[in-house]
Amino acid sequence: MSAVGPEDPGSRPIRDGLDHRGPVADGSMPAIEIHDLSIAFGAREVVRLEHLEVGEGEILGLAGESGSGKSMTALAILGLAPTVGATVRGTIRFEGRDLLALSPRELRDVRGRRIAMVFQSPIASFNPVFRVGDLFVRSLLLHGARNRGEARARAEEALRGVLLAPDLLGRYPHQLSGGQAQRVAIALALALRSRVLLADEPTSALDVTVQAEILQLVRALRDERGMSVLFISHDLAVVAELCDRIAVMREGRIVEEGPADDVLRAPRHEYTRALVAAVPKVGRIGGGP
Ligand code: ADP
Ligand code: MG
Repeated sequence: MSAVGPEDPGSRPIRDGLDHRGPVADGSMPAIEIHDLSIAFGAREVVRLEHLEVGEGEILGLAGESGSGKSMTALAILGLAPTVGATVRGTIRFEGRDLLALSPRELRDVRGRRIAMVFQSPIASFNPVFRVGDLFVRSLLLHGARNRGEARARAEEALRGVLLAPDLLGRYPHQLSGGQAQRVAIALALALRSRVLLADEPTSALDVTVQAEILQLVRALRDERGMSVLFISHDLAVVAELCDRIAVMREGRIVEEGPADDVLRAPRHEYTRALVAAVPKVGRIGGGP
């Protein structure tokens, strides 16, 4: 039985080979490829990434202490860094295009549909005046659903996929628990058939049990839908549990990058060693102390 829901009869899973892939369809083309990314507030450069990529169907963990530039990197991918006053240079390739060169309209489409996002406090990022169902219907009508009925059916299907009851569609965002809100945000990505999920500290506000459930769900999205995930966390323990590969950021730069097991077993950089040493028991996430 599938943890991310049964096949949606009115739709296709993300691996249907339609329009999502670039010229290379054998998985060798990264989902997101960043080159020479510079993010600055005035004269202060807060992110400088020579190269970072999220592979097709990969979960890449972006770890590092608070203020190291993780969230600004995610905002840049979404084209939202300028909205907080940052200047962005470089290239971010996605589906054969440079996200930093798209028009506002093209960017909105990519942001709404192809690249989904889950933040630390999704309740705050949902419009409080809309019920959850309206939120889905509005997003789905903007992005491909033919009518309200179809949008509603896709919303219910997606909620079942994250193990939430469809009656939750009648609730307002403030009536959701933190864990439910994260599931709703993930369900929206499912309903929109997003190809990439950007998750910025999605479990930091949750207690450990709920945190473990959300991590399982993210893994299922990758395993069953082939979604590519950029998973951001200051908590190396969480990243270690979930991710295939880890990139460690410090002061806006990547100081270490590699397969998760290698980075954890034999960290090369002094800073990573300190992070690893601070993790009580790597590999036992969600299990509590
Ligand atoms: P992280 O997510 O790793 O905690 P951020 O990406 O949020 O870090 O921040 C990276 C750097 O950018 C920090 O030094 C932060 O102070 C700075 N910064 C973030 N947002 C703004 C802003 N709106 N104005 C000025 N500086 C900012
Ligand atoms: Mg952050």
